[in-house]
Amino acid sequence: MSIATLASHSSLQIFHGAKFEGFRTIAIVLRDRLWFYEQFRHLIDDFVILNNWRELCSPDVVGKLQSLNTILVPHGSYVEYVGLDCAERIEIPIFGLRGLFRVESDQWAKMELLRRAGIPIPRLYGVGDEVHGPVIVKLPGAKGGRGYFIARSGEEVIKGVEERVREGLIKSPRDAIVQEYLIGVTTYFHYFYSPILGRVEILGADIRYETNIDGLRRLPPDVIIEVGLKPTFVVVGNLPLVLRESLLPKVLDYGIKFVEETRRSLPPGVIGPFSLEGVIDDETNIRIFEFSGRIVAGTNLYIGGSPYSYLYWNEPMSMGRRIAREIKMAIERDELDRVVT
Ligand code: ATP
Repeated sequence: MSIATLASHSSLQIFHGAKFEGFRTIAIVLRDRLWFYEQFRHLIDDFVILNNWRELCSPDVVGKLQSLNTILVPHGSYVEYVGLDCAERIEIPIFGLRGLFRVESDQWAKMELLRRAGIPIPRLYGVGDEVHGPVIVKLPGAKGGRGYFIARSGEEVIKGVEERVREGLIKSPRDAIVQEYLIGVTTYFHYFYSPILGRVEILGADIRYETNIDGLRRLPPDVIIEVGLKPTFVVVGNLPLVLRESLLPKVLDYGIKFVEETRRSLPPGVIGPFSLEGVIDDETNIRIFEFSGRIVAGTNLYIGGSPYSYLYWNEPMSMGRRIAREIKMAIERDELDRVVT
């Protein structure tokens, strides 16, 4: 059995974890990045080389992966790279819930899933609605915050969205979603749902460091206003975060609610890694503005295990290794069909 992933995002962690658990590993790699991944040859058994990501679904590539008895681990960039159609229809077993890809690519459906789960979310508006207070206007596709902007009124929302349509960043104003801008600490919670053990594990948390929003606070507010600097949200990296223990029950409760809702509306429900992304305010309320049904890049911080993964496993358990451990346990119990879709 081989574990494959696209060589990018969190792939080194996934290969590292898969090797630890005794699997063969396959890096699906772009030709011009091969030299880099070859430096990690000790973690990678086979390379499947592509000229562009869209080639993943070509019969040759799929045939090669099938012949290597492959399970594909989709990470945060998977759908963005290969496109929704290929991501969904590829005839390779996927570790995780395939049915979630389509929901994740629709900002409204995504927020609706959170709402139905009973997880608090920010107020939502459409382009053209009157808005109250600062709002953040978000464009579709995981672009790591690129093109997002903050607006104070319905008119500012329309103006900014029209600019982005002209720039080709989005096709139609309907593709944008407008959310109440939440004030507090923006936090990414990393979870793992194990169908084999029947439990949700909190495996870590991180804070994203984003330019220029995180740099602006180094300037006095009057300078920002005078020069007319505008915040942007381009991800630079991730910082580790250990949560106040009193926050953990709520964080775990949200994770359980998320799993339960996906099981109701998208059976068999989420499998393996997912992340809820939200803001913790000064009354320790947590509202969730986004989720990912796959491994997020913030888990790369904990390749040697996180303070939480030690509580469950008492050994260095990264998210990548946790994925491989789940597959291993499923194989041992002859229950592989419970962890792949
Ligand atoms: P990814 O898919 O990589 O997670 P994305 O493109 O979906 O990224 P988001 O994570 O939704 O983007 O948002 C990018 C950033 O914008 C967040 O990290 C956060 O700083 C800010 N942000 C998003 N929504 C809100 C909100 N409702 N209130 C305050 N800040 C927000």
